[in-house]
Amino acid sequence: MTDIQYLKGVGPRRAEMLNKLGLGTVEDMLLYFPKKWEDRRFNVKKEKLDRLEEVPVVFGLVRSVRDMYTPGSLRIFKAVIDAGGYEAEASWFRRHNHRFDVFSSLRRDVKPGERLWLVASPEDPLFRTRLRVEEHYRQDDLMAQNAHVNRIVPVYPLTEGITARFMREAMFRAVTERSAEMGEFLPGRLLAGRGLIGREMAFRAVHFPRNVFELREARRRLIYEELLLMSLAWALKRRQTRSIEKGFSYRIKRDLLTPFREKLGFELTPSQKKAINDIFADMSAPAPMSRLLEGDVGSGKTVVAMSALLLAVENGYQGVFMAPTEILAEQHFMTFRRYLSGLGVRFAVLTSRLKPKERREIKEKIAAGGLDIVIGTHAVLEPDVKFKDLKLIVVDEQHRFGVRQRAALRRKGDKADTLIMTATPIPRTLFLALYGDLDLSVLTDMPPGRKPVRTERAAEEDALKAVREETSRGRQAYMVYPLIEEDGAGALKSVKAEFERLKTVFGDRRIAMLHGAMPAEEKERVMAGFAARKIDILVATSVIEVGIDVPNATVMVINNAENFGLASLHQLRGRVGRGRSESRCLLVAGETTPAGAERLEAMCSTSSGFEISEKDSRIRGAGEVLGVRQHGDMEFRLAELPRDGDVLGQAMEDRDKLLETDPGLRDPENAGLRHNLMKIYQHKWDIIDLS
Ligand code: ADP
Ligand code: MG
Repeated sequence: MTDIQYLKGVGPRRAEMLNKLGLGTVEDMLLYFPKKWEDRRFNVKKEKLDRLEEVPVVFGLVRSVRDMYTPGSLRIFKAVIDAGGYEAEASWFRRHNHRFDVFSSLRRDVKPGERLWLVASPEDPLFRTRLRVEEHYRQDDLMAQNAHVNRIVPVYPLTEGITARFMREAMFRAVTERSAEMGEFLPGRLLAGRGLIGREMAFRAVHFPRNVFELREARRRLIYEELLLMSLAWALKRRQTRSIEKGFSYRIKRDLLTPFREKLGFELTPSQKKAINDIFADMSAPAPMSRLLEGDVGSGKTVVAMSALLLAVENGYQGVFMAPTEILAEQHFMTFRRYLSGLGVRFAVLTSRLKPKERREIKEKIAAGGLDIVIGTHAVLEPDVKFKDLKLIVVDEQHRFGVRQRAALRRKGDKADTLIMTATPIPRTLFLALYGDLDLSVLTDMPPGRKPVRTERAAEEDALKAVREETSRGRQAYMVYPLIEEDGAGALKSVKAEFERLKTVFGDRRIAMLHGAMPAEEKERVMAGFAARKIDILVATSVIEVGIDVPNATVMVINNAENFGLASLHQLRGRVGRGRSESRCLLVAGETTPAGAERLEAMCSTSSGFEISEKDSRIRGAGEVLGVRQHGDMEFRLAELPRDGDVLGQAMEDRDKLLETDPGLRDPENAGLRHNLMKIYQHKWDIIDLS
């Protein structure tokens, strides 16, 4: 479509700024959907709709004006407005500037006898007649009623040099002149079946709806389109992975698995056994495994992963175990040492903190097949790490790895099996949207003997008392703070300052600190010391949030708990209650917002990760469940999950029918669908062209 600079009112300079928003063509413009809408209709009963905000608008006749000079740099311009039935005093606020008259344009527009539209909020809720003006438009301003007032108005994300006013006007022109070019591509059958409006109409109405009904229908249509394309992409991606032949096969020999099981010293839980069976069946199948293992914190995912890795090693292949942080990679390395010693398995940890020489040596071994299992962070993704025969990739704590990273991983291994693990229990709609190409195993039971962690809000003295008590019995404690260093604001506590203070408070205890800014060797030393019970109290930031496993630790004190999200709180709590003894999680909180209080309350009332995630999605709203928002694959233009879960359900139903009758989307009726699908997802998700 046409370059954006040829759109009326834009020109080359503005076009350059719009380019910064990723808008190069008129089509890009039309696809740049509002982030919300403002209901600026005058004298209309306003209906409620998600993302639609009510904005007060006044239409009136200017009676008189005056400017006021206040001491200081603020200048106020005032006008008395006859708003039809009542008089209001409207104020415009400007910063003084001695080089020019900050009111010059106001003096031009706001004259006695003029009729004006004002977007204005009451200065004080009690005095509706005193208005603070945000925007004003003269009655004879034609664009005003087209795009800015007395209608539902779109609100777009902006950038420097692009004002809301300019953006709305440019969009209005694009929409009125060009939306006819946004051709329909959904087959008529689907449109009729779901009662959806046409595409051109949808584009007009999503930007400049005439009423709430139009807005709702435009959104439904465009969200459906978006989710249908995504569901199709998942189905194709899935089909594509399943159609690959690995070209190698596994035999379950048990010469490593059996001694490993014996070394564990505990029985696997029924759901661990089931997950291992699922995984072994996948690994023995002709197509590569793509499986997600979901299990709450402490449910024992690591031994499941190790079993899979050992199957690969038994068969003479290499495996990789990836963790999101170096601390966690180091810890997994220690776990491997504990359970695999004497089995003859060769493994190493590869992180960016290794000295160049060590790294080089490890990489050489990996390439020569001198290592069976490599544990590491994203460092194992670097192109200079070459494997001899990589056949299994395990990714721990998946909520930090997107589809693209997964694809990159798979490219490393020659049609390798992948197992992804997450402690994030996600609602089903989200699972399908995020991981629609994966099979799922869930650890539904906890290792026996676990007692739920007693969680309560506590005063700081009581928290310190609990730490003293537990450590006097030989148990260990975590004390978590939000900051590494004081930030000067003083509202939040820091690891460094509190560490100094706690050293004197707990004079006779062995105490250490851990945070992300420490040199890697030191971090490793501290973690190892804590795991070996040489440290009683670990003062840390949330670096310890994910995965750290020290069963002898029985107290978790979270300071400034109001400042942590639910996902973090739940993960932090998961660091205790990992052994057989009763554990406690104490939330020390300062003053907090209602949402903060609700999070703390949720933590105290349930220990189930699933319930936490449900509450989280309710408190924080759509799409932000347990950090899913950071996920690049969830960048929808308009859809939001779980809000649009039922549209997703319809889209998936339609997708299944569609692919059943026309698996390659070859029917001319589906050509547009195929074209748009490939345009968005072929590159993004590595989908092989259907044609
Ligand atoms: P997560 O699923 O959070 O990664 P881990 O794999 O770290 O959990 O396991 C938590 C703790 O439970 C570890 O100390 C592990 O050794 C132990 N564990 C795992 N499975 C069992 C089991 N079946 N019985 C007893 N303890 C187990
Ligand atoms: Mg873990």
